[in-house]
Amino acid sequence: MQAPVVGGVRLPRGNGEVIRLARGASLSDFAEKIDANPASLVQALFNLGEMVTATQSVGDDTLQLLGDELNFKVQVVSPEDEDRELLDSFDLTYGDDDDEEEDLVVRPPVVTVMGHVDHGKTRLLDTIRQANVREGEHGGITQHIGAYQVPTTLDGEERLITFIDTPGHEAFTAMRARGAKVTDIAILVVAADDGVMPQTVEAINHAKSADVPIVVAVNKIDKEGADPAKIRGQLTEFGLVAEEYGGDTMFVDISARNGTNIDQLLEAVLLTADASLDLRANPDREAQGVSIEAHLDRGRGPVATVLIQRGTLRVGDSVVAGDAYGRVRKMVDEHGDDVPEALPSRPVQVIGFTSVPRAGDSLLVVEEDRIARQIADRRAARRRNELAAKGRRRISLEDLDSVLKETSQLNLILKGDNSGTVEALEEALIGIDVGEEVELRVIDRGVGGVTETNVNLAAASNAIIIGFNVRAEGKATELANREGVEIRYYTVIYQAIEEITKALTGMLKPVYEEVSLGTVEIRALFKSSKAGLIAGCMVTSGVVRRNAKARLLRDSAVIAENLTVTSLRREKDDATEVREGYECGLTLTYSDFKVGDVIETYELQEKPRG
Ligand code: GDP
Repeated sequence: MQAPVVGGVRLPRGNGEVIRLARGASLSDFAEKIDANPASLVQALFNLGEMVTATQSVGDDTLQLLGDELNFKVQVVSPEDEDRELLDSFDLTYGDDDDEEEDLVVRPPVVTVMGHVDHGKTRLLDTIRQANVREGEHGGITQHIGAYQVPTTLDGEERLITFIDTPGHEAFTAMRARGAKVTDIAILVVAADDGVMPQTVEAINHAKSADVPIVVAVNKIDKEGADPAKIRGQLTEFGLVAEEYGGDTMFVDISARNGTNIDQLLEAVLLTADASLDLRANPDREAQGVSIEAHLDRGRGPVATVLIQRGTLRVGDSVVAGDAYGRVRKMVDEHGDDVPEALPSRPVQVIGFTSVPRAGDSLLVVEEDRIARQIADRRAARRRNELAAKGRRRISLEDLDSVLKETSQLNLILKGDNSGTVEALEEALIGIDVGEEVELRVIDRGVGGVTETNVNLAAASNAIIIGFNVRAEGKATELANREGVEIRYYTVIYQAIEEITKALTGMLKPVYEEVSLGTVEIRALFKSSKAGLIAGCMVTSGVVRRNAKARLLRDSAVIAENLTVTSLRREKDDATEVREGYECGLTLTYSDFKVGDVIETYELQEKPRG
């Protein structure tokens, strides 16, 4: 059979065989699989309307398109599948598939507090942290490690609840985006003096799509104007019907400030867990968990808070979390105490990683350091590919010209105090939508202060650096000043988003809107040695102005566009404007007009961006 010709290029033709390509693969990868010359694939794709280089990552649909053209069946392997295969090759699985029913033991529920800004999420977490300290615990909870456990009594039995100590749904969604399901129950905080707000609705949607039951904390009941009944009414619209109204959602009226009904809220969490979830895990196996927060500590190196999901994590275990690996040297809890072993649902700070894992990375205990390292390395390589794929914008030939002329791109480098916030910030920033013409790219991100390396990269790629809860280190500020690199510092995600949105909108070129002025009809033509051909007109509607934009119509068809009224006279005098019903003489930047033609005049007004 003849080789197919794609856009003039001869290429090998498949027989419908399956080719597996990793998400974010390049044309070189593709070429290697089908034993073709990468350059010919580049050319073929170019002819199909896409410009990519051989080593650049391409999107799924591009791989499919090329596959279809060449009669190969392209299977794009998702990162999850790939990871499963990777673990499989080491005889490992992430998950509880192999746990026997009789090995399962009840574990504490893991709770995330969500809700609208200022409704009291942070305050609630603080109050719970302070009020529920087990007797004999010295000093209570002293460290922020990203999660904490509190005891609560239900039916005379002491039980634990694990709280994720980062309020808001950004962290929740960032983790879910990595496929990590950490939260068992969401506490939805709604201020009784305010009501259901946009982020309340978002939180409900996030919890629902993750299939996480919700307990509603109606907060600030100490405030004047608090109306808990109204909140119950509003929430029924979102499918959250209070038990007292015949529904199955528990509502607890609280005051995070005064500590009112906090115990009842904790009880409601346990009751909801018991009623709708089967929270059990096998403690007798190698530990698996999720990294929920991680940062680089000056003295201790990479520090990651890990929530154990099954098994028991012990000091000395070889671990891999995402593309970080290491051996557990030390584990510390939220009280600052050493923990020799951590059971399911227990959050612990793990020291001993060689690099900082990301929030949402799953953690596995493996047999030996070598395996941990191999898995980490393979994942790191894959992640580099993925990032490259994500950062690339597809440019079609049709708009290549305009893209080259018009694309405004805002490059950002994000630095933050822990990986959770950096990710939340990245996610939120990427989500800013200001239309097609401006593109936002996060070209680098990381945990820790702003370094000279960051500044150098920013200078080279014309980027702005965002420091979230961190400052510049060493000579970074000096360098930034010298290089003209802008560093912006934030402590509130919301504010960062607002300012970046503004910056992006500012980069947009103004949009002009045509505002019609009026129409004139040409009744006579005069020749002037100075002005050329003059149209003697009658203004039939609106007005005509000097310097106005105009188009010429003949028999209702546009003859000429984008003209300007260069001079305007009323009788013998220059005029700036002539109104409907009056005669005038005018010249245009175009003089091929005739008696009977109609001139439409308009102005361009800048349209505010929505
Ligand atoms: P977040 O944005 O949801 O984390 O809200 P915060 O926890 O920061 O609370 C926002 C504001 O509401 C703060 O000034 C809190 O002190 C206040 N606040 C929180 N809970 C209560 C409460 O139960 N009663 C009253 N009166 N104020 C509260």
